[in-house]
Amino acid sequence: MRVRCPHCDDLTTIRKSIQLSEQCREITCHCHNSLCGHVFVCHITPVRTLSLSATPRKSITIPLSDHIDRTQLSLQLDMPIKGEAHAHVRHATHANIA
Ligand SMILES: [Zn+2]
Repeated sequence: MRVRCPHCDDLTTIRKSIQLSEQCREITCHCHNSLCGHVFVCHITPVRTLSLSATPRKSITIPLSDHIDRTQLSLQLDMPIKGEAHAHVRHATHANIA
């Protein structure tokens, strides 16, 4: 990750990184420009989701980006999971036989 100094726009080095919470990390940046010498702290927080996680945590809620088609996403989420639909068919078949 590259962070630029807000004063001189030179690159910085991240010297320290602390996880403050599930969704916030604090980093300390040192400016490479010896004439500037700025040392500053940033917070890194997710602000929107561009692509859904395949292993989501229930405690994490990050808003969806505006470019995501919510109608299409809703339809996809309602689709049966591979293997689950098969299991339902199998159960239905056994129920019909018994
Ligand atoms: Zn600087």
